[in-house]
Amino acid sequence: MQHRYQEHVDVLIVGGGFGGFYAARQLERSLSGRQRHRVLLVAEENFFLFSPLLAEAASGTLEPRHAVIPLRSQLHSTEVVAGRVSEIDLDRRLARVLDKAGQEQEVLFRSVVLAPGSVPSTLPVPGLAEEAVSFKSLPDAIWLRNRVLAQMEAAEASHDPAARRELLTFTFVGGGYAGVEALAELESLAQVAARHYHRLLPEDMRWVLVEATHTLLPGISKRLARYTERQLRLRGIELHLSSRLKSCVDGWIELDDGTPRYRSGTLVWTTGQRASPLVASAGLPLDERGRVIVDDHLRVKGHADTYAVGDCAAVPDPTGGICPATAQHAMRQGSLAGRNVASDYGMGEPAPFTYRTRGMAVTLGNGKGTAQVGPATFTGPLAWWMGRSYHLLMMPGAARRARIVSDWTLGVLFPRDISQLGALGRPTPLPSPRPSTGAG
Ligand SMILES: Cc1cc2nc3c(=O)[nH]c(=O)nc-3n(C[C@H](O)[C@H](O)[C@H](O)COP(=O)(O)OP(=O)(O)OC[C@H]3O[C@@H](n4cnc5c(N)ncnc54)[C@H](O)[C@@H]3O)c2cc1C
Repeated sequence: MQHRYQEHVDVLIVGGGFGGFYAARQLERSLSGRQRHRVLLVAEENFFLFSPLLAEAASGTLEPRHAVIPLRSQLHSTEVVAGRVSEIDLDRRLARVLDKAGQEQEVLFRSVVLAPGSVPSTLPVPGLAEEAVSFKSLPDAIWLRNRVLAQMEAAEASHDPAARRELLTFTFVGGGYAGVEALAELESLAQVAARHYHRLLPEDMRWVLVEATHTLLPGISKRLARYTERQLRLRGIELHLSSRLKSCVDGWIELDDGTPRYRSGTLVWTTGQRASPLVASAGLPLDERGRVIVDDHLRVKGHADTYAVGDCAAVPDPTGGICPATAQHAMRQGSLAGRNVASDYGMGEPAPFTYRTRGMAVTLGNGKGTAQVGPATFTGPLAWWMGRSYHLLMMPGAARRARIVSDWTLGVLFPRDISQLGALGRPTPLPSPRPSTGAG
């Protein structure tokens, strides 16, 4: 039977990603006075996923566990509930939370920071729901890594060249940084692994990237976009720019650019994100992309003590327009929301959001990358190293940083692990008891 109970807290934080985690961290610092305030953070998992490292976790250059930060070990006075906020009523200041024990909690709060992030946005493409996977969570990354290796095992065993080609065709839709990094890193894993498969031929493998606009990495400098295209083409990756997926029923890929239709064993959808549906259900003012409209102090218009940050929020960019949906913005917005909530409780002064994009780094696998810092652009191993160093600096916790450095160092000294651990997470059932023979 489902139990229900009620909690009264001062601040509720919804989401334990970049926005929610940094809001909690800042509140711990700002509210550390004598008066005790209860801050409760609800997140679907008990860890914070450092998504800029997701592609490396997929390709095996980083142990997947090292791309996440356990919330409980990094947050000290914040109470953490692993569960889902299913409903928020801002007039009653009440949230319903379904926790991992299957209980429904009613949380009554004085202030709330909304940071539930975004979800993949799909289009009505025939076959998409059945055939495509996303690349957003740790399970997605682990699944894709195992998928690449499982497809290689199956292809190695197959005597039919057409079946081998289909098994080893990987199509990615979306040429933003998530799609480019995921494809580039996984292709580099496949290249490394292919050396150990004696029957696979280079022409068996096909990697395809489809992007609707005329350039990869929209928003990055033209020089870096061109460099990325050149690098991927040099590795034999097929790029289809200004092209859209029309259909993928039964794995048959049809693009609208005249490419002959082909079968793809794996289809990854990395294009487009939309704000978490939770914010729409809360009856908040939304922009045309479903993000909560907030002012420069991250307060939701017309709702006192309600803040929204990260991918679910339309935050005014100090350089004009709306801030891009990136980790670097979400973490700074989270910290600022924490500071502004604390000021509502008489601790410190509120401040507006003034952060301007500093740069961007994209890893392309094989020790290559692109990076942009202000107007300066970098390519190749230097950019790759800059990206890695930046992410390392941003990673909270010395222990996590040390583990990442150790993974990267071991990766230089030893070959990549190509074990296929697809059965992970599924315990082996015990065999049925043998019928009794009657003997002793
Ligand atoms: C593959 C990939 C690579 C990326 N690389 C980069 C990069 O290199 N640089 C960069 O700046 N940005 C990058 N980004 C973008 C960046 O990850 C996001 O902009 C950032 O995570 C947004 O932070 P957030 O807090 O809004 O959401 P998230 O970090 O996604 O966190 C959302 C949190 O809310 C929780 N949640 C959701 N719904 C509920 C609910 N109903 N109840 C309770 N909890 C809920 C989730 O469990 C999660 O804890 C990348 C994104 C992806 C997918």
